[in-house]
Amino acid sequence: MDKLQTFQQITNNIKVCQKCRLCKTAKNPVPGEGNIDSEIIFVGEAPGQVEDATGRPFVGRAGKLLESMLNKISLKREDVWIGNIIKHRPPENRDPLPDEIASCEPYLTLQIHIINPLLVVTLGRFSMNYFYPEGKITRDRGHVIKIKGFNVYPVYHPAAALRNPSMARVLEEDFLRIPEVLKQIKNGVQENFLPEDNGILDGQLRLGL
Ligand code: URA
Repeated sequence: MDKLQTFQQITNNIKVCQKCRLCKTAKNPVPGEGNIDSEIIFVGEAPGQVEDATGRPFVGRAGKLLESMLNKISLKREDVWIGNIIKHRPPENRDPLPDEIASCEPYLTLQIHIINPLLVVTLGRFSMNYFYPEGKITRDRGHVIKIKGFNVYPVYHPAAALRNPSMARVLEEDFLRIPEVLKQIKNGVQENFLPEDNGILDGQLRLGL
């Protein structure tokens, strides 16, 4: 099986997944979409109402903001891969429960290993904590965290930015730095990375492959 076929197989498995209660209330699974050869991927938390209705990630108001920020760094949404930790919408957009995150975890793990991106931009706290459970979004956002070979760059969630203008400004600043961060990663520069005393060395990556 080639990369595309393997990826499609995971998508097919997500579409029929009944590993947790969320498939009973969701209208559609949202496996993720975009360019699986992209150097950058964006990982959110869970589908919201519009995503649930369409089966596509980040197509509601938060998605529009994500798209406009992508455009500011000369990217279109189809240039990158966009996905979520949780593939079915939690009822009323409640926070995903630990057992739901655990059930869904292998899907994103496999997706990321197949894409093998240079940079994983995590959108919001849940997504950051998926990679780096000890992480604190207000402290760690805008820093590259190197965990088991992945460069993880946490930023605020676009939905949070829609509610809070000062978070919106910070989110945009962090976004505008993405091309430079990518360049530094390609050049092997690590000066941007979290200092060692910031707990990162103890960070447990939940990608358990
Ligand atoms: N928020 C998310 O975290 N993911 C989506 O797909 C939409 C909104």
